[in-house]
Amino acid sequence: MSHSVPNAVVVRVPGKVNLQLSVGPKESDGFHGVVTVFQAISLFDDVTISRTEIGSGISVKISGDQSHGVPADETNLAVKAALIMCDTYDLPADLLIDIKKTIPVAGGMAGGSADAAATILALDHLYTLGLSRDEMHAVASKIGSDVPFLLGGGTAVGRGRGDEVTSALSRGTYHWVLALSSVGLSTPAVYNEIDRLREGLVVAPPHANEYLLQALLSSDSVAVGRALSNDLQAAACSLRPALRLILDVGEEYGALGSIISGSGPTVAFLVSDEEHALDLAVALTSSGVIGTVTRASGPVPGARVVEVR
Ligand code: ATP
Repeated sequence: MSHSVPNAVVVRVPGKVNLQLSVGPKESDGFHGVVTVFQAISLFDDVTISRTEIGSGISVKISGDQSHGVPADETNLAVKAALIMCDTYDLPADLLIDIKKTIPVAGGMAGGSADAAATILALDHLYTLGLSRDEMHAVASKIGSDVPFLLGGGTAVGRGRGDEVTSALSRGTYHWVLALSSVGLSTPAVYNEIDRLREGLVVAPPHANEYLLQALLSSDSVAVGRALSNDLQAAACSLRPALRLILDVGEEYGALGSIISGSGPTVAFLVSDEEHALDLAVALTSSGVIGTVTRASGPVPGARVVEVR
């Protein structure tokens, strides 16, 4: 039996929304402990990794609707992931990374982290490493706090920096309408703003919202809508006051819940079904306060190989 060695691997990877994002006090190293409930949703990037000539190094090609502002150098999180993988497993760092982006950039949907997760899985297949889940997680958590979650996807609770991931039981499908902004928000700037808003306050350590987890377990989208919470929302709205108007439009048109995803500025509206999603999308578009509206559903699986050639 002959084993052909793949020349290229294509991995599809989703973005995420945070159904809960609770931010603890600032720690001595400047970071914050969080408890978050992630849901992977059906907006995907496709990352294709091909072998290239020996000595050619790593190059990056970016295409797709959301390619604006994505770096094509070693600051790209996919390149960072490739370099760590090559270093850890002694692989030849001669690769072309082709990223087709659909996940909004700097939108609080972890698009860069998604591409890093896709790269880890693609290299595992390209070089037939057969890494375990734990081995891939170990590389993932070196890159960023959202990367481990995007390897597995689905619904999960993230603790620590968000990188200590435990999967959570969730039944049913959740439908989302997403209001995208053309200008992103920087995650560090939003954390600085929450520190400023909390100055002088005693901040309790974060806990998972049991009411939310129970609602997910019983497929109760009305209860999930009520339980959505994000401690970064006030900070994102303080930096970008127009986000409040967008959140209000969703409420006015009967969304089950409205929330800023991660550090924003994407606003995610939970709706009851696809028809409701379409109605809200039309209302948001005609309100004039939003640039782009898109729809997605979740949970979906994390990074997966869709083609080997
Ligand atoms: P998070 O939800 O994890 O805070 P985000 O969705 O707000 O992330 P990203 O889309 O991951 O933000 O990108 C944030 C910044 O990271 C971008 O502005 C860009 O400069 C840089 N970046 C690095 N690699 C990538 C990538 N592969 N895709 C998108 N942005 C990337």
